[in-house]
Amino acid sequence: MTGPRDGRPPAADPAPARAAGEFGLIAAFTRGLQPSGAVSVGVGDDGAVFRIAGEVVVSTDLLVEGVHFRCDWSSAEQVGRKAVAVNVADLEAMGARPVAMVVALGLPARLGADWALEFSRGVRVEADRAGIALVGGDTTAARDATVCVTVMGETAGRDPVLRSGAVRGDVVAVRGRLGWAAAGLALLERGLGSPSAAVAAQQVPEPPYGAGREAAGAGAHAMLDVSDGLVGDLGHVAEASRVVIDVDRELLVPDQPVVEAAVTLGLDPVSLVLGGGEDHALAACFAPGQVPDGWQRVGSVRAPRAGEDPGVLVDGAPYLGHGGWDHFGT
Ligand code: ADP
Ligand code: MG
Repeated sequence: MTGPRDGRPPAADPAPARAAGEFGLIAAFTRGLQPSGAVSVGVGDDGAVFRIAGEVVVSTDLLVEGVHFRCDWSSAEQVGRKAVAVNVADLEAMGARPVAMVVALGLPARLGADWALEFSRGVRVEADRAGIALVGGDTTAARDATVCVTVMGETAGRDPVLRSGAVRGDVVAVRGRLGWAAAGLALLERGLGSPSAAVAAQQVPEPPYGAGREAAGAGAHAMLDVSDGLVGDLGHVAEASRVVIDVDRELLVPDQPVVEAAVTLGLDPVSLVLGGGEDHALAACFAPGQVPDGWQRVGSVRAPRAGEDPGVLVDGAPYLGHGGWDHFGT
């Protein structure tokens, strides 16, 4: 309708930037989304419907303002991208193919519709990069910005790769970045913006999309994504598999932005690689000779000796540095 029939002024331009209210926002968030591929019913109904090949792998991650992101350190688009990336990394870590996701947003009035629309743009950008379809979500008012993404993937007939499958003699290898996001966080905490690649890695992690499925195809015995720090996260594999993982410091070559940031911050770059989380690299255990191209060997797996507990060693000794992040730790 182009003109008012009742004498009222024409309705406001429904451009995305003017979207407001729950339904206006949802309309903007979901604009142009069409069911395709495995998805037969996308957004707009009470539930989405999609087909899956093999078993379903589900994972969810909650991002809370002030805990996982700060609106003065990250744009809304970066928050949206990060929320998708950290979730898809969990599917990759199972060796699954991403299929569909739902996104729930708690939005404080102070951030406004523009923040929400920029956030939604980030979600769509990263979903495209990761090859996952946005099929629904929920939108509500909240005191702090809260983002919950739930992702669903398929195993397509292959066994999922668990944390519990590492065996002695395995090679431990990593694909993706280590230490970048932690360096970025340390820079941001000191009000520094350079090296910008490290700061950008903290704002938007770049998990190695596709590498998890590749590792599964190569017969990886165990895998996870490094969300909290290499030593800490490999500890989960060691515990679940009842093995000792020995990380070889010589094999950890910090990338240039980590080295530069470490110099700026007066930190040891290797400790950023060993303890820094949030890059969502993949770490996996392979039989020798089965490590796919592009993966960096970082250590090896052996059986615990008599009286020894499963766990992670660095150069054969317990690691005394900061091995990773624990929300409820000290
Ligand atoms: P209901 O009242 O049935 O829960 P809603 O009004 O919450 O439905 O949502 C309407 C449609 O919009 C649903 O298909 C829902 O999945 C989708 N939706 C709501 N919020 C979002 C969002 N933030 N991102 C993507 N889709 C969303
Ligand atoms: Mg709802």
